[in-house]
Amino acid sequence: QSTWSGVPQGPPDAILGITEAFKKDPSGEKINLGVGAYRDDKGKPTAEQQVVQQNMDKEYAGITGVPDFGSAAALLAYGPDSAPLKEGRIAMTQSISGTGALRIGGAFLHRFFPGAKAIYIPTPSWANHKAVFSDSGLEVKQYRYYNKDTIGLDFDGMVEDIKKMPKGSMILLHACAHNPTGVDPTEQQWRSISDAVKEGGHYPFFDMAYQGFASGDTDKDAFALRHFIKEGHQPCLAQSFAKNMGLYGERVGAFSVVTASPEEKARVDSQVKILVRPLYSNPPVHGARIASTILKDPALNKQWLGEVKGMADRIIEMRALLKENLEKLGSKHSWNHITDQIGMFAYTGLNAEQMTKLAEEHSVYATKDGRISVAGITSQNVGRLAEAIYKVKG
Ligand code: PMP
Repeated sequence: QSTWSGVPQGPPDAILGITEAFKKDPSGEKINLGVGAYRDDKGKPTAEQQVVQQNMDKEYAGITGVPDFGSAAALLAYGPDSAPLKEGRIAMTQSISGTGALRIGGAFLHRFFPGAKAIYIPTPSWANHKAVFSDSGLEVKQYRYYNKDTIGLDFDGMVEDIKKMPKGSMILLHACAHNPTGVDPTEQQWRSISDAVKEGGHYPFFDMAYQGFASGDTDKDAFALRHFIKEGHQPCLAQSFAKNMGLYGERVGAFSVVTASPEEKARVDSQVKILVRPLYSNPPVHGARIASTILKDPALNKQWLGEVKGMADRIIEMRALLKENLEKLGSKHSWNHITDQIGMFAYTGLNAEQMTKLAEEHSVYATKDGRISVAGITSQNVGRLAEAIYKVKG
């Protein structure tokens, strides 16, 4: 009897399965809209060259990572006018991209959050949120977010659910470019959400995996986080540089906690270190050096901000083209949601059966929930994509 004979076969990862099916398809016109990956990185190789030319050592970073990176990441997220940043009361640690930031956050909240060890996430949310937080020991609950009738935000349901949560609950918020729906609250709606969170005495955890990707402007995309802070919340934050810097495999991210004072920050810092040390000792240095070079070198920073804007604009343009093509074909449905939504993903409103047809009959691959990665749409394939959607949905 083998030691592992009792290990059951786990289900395959939904998104990797799509890539496999896509690879097997012999069609010359196949389109993969499953994975969210975008690359248009002219600035990154320059920054990487600079890092390589400096011939830096490969010594360990400290437990909380490359210090220059941490300060630059905090500045990008919280902004130069941020009171907690200026007052030195943000505890910051480099992390293994956004996922690692969420995981450290989950562990920190599990160990130190004074209230109930449960976190509310939107319905739906990034598929990994539930696993990350439950593996951290937190109970995962949900609040209403997406309205499938309007293919938009269920704002009333969301606020109602926030008001119904037990006082002092933890709530996860997507800072911008909600994954998987592409549906974000407006600035006005964010103000009301902040009020509701405050009224309940809840604790906000922002996940910001796409800063810059939604509007093309990194400050605008940080509106929710910065507004909450102005309103007196002390959130924690997971940042990822995978998408906005094209550093996917380098795993560059950060976890930070806004605290009440530098003294409190020092205590939080000490405990984050105690959490990280037995997990992975210290994070990798190369990607963080690239990111901090991009953030700190004025010329490279300017170039990068331009590229981020270029990425966001291209995505916005592809949304418009897809909608236009569907309307030209005479679709009887409204496709306004495609252009109302924002960020890398669009929720088409197609059901699982229609998505299966898209793959089997039209070689268009995406997740069964109807989510498509707009990053995979090009001016070359958008016509064919619209036709396929039209044939499947009408
Ligand atoms: N949060 C959300 C909402 C995401 O979409 C992603 C990336 N798919 C992440 C976090 C983290 O990704 P990574 O670990 O690659 O930074």
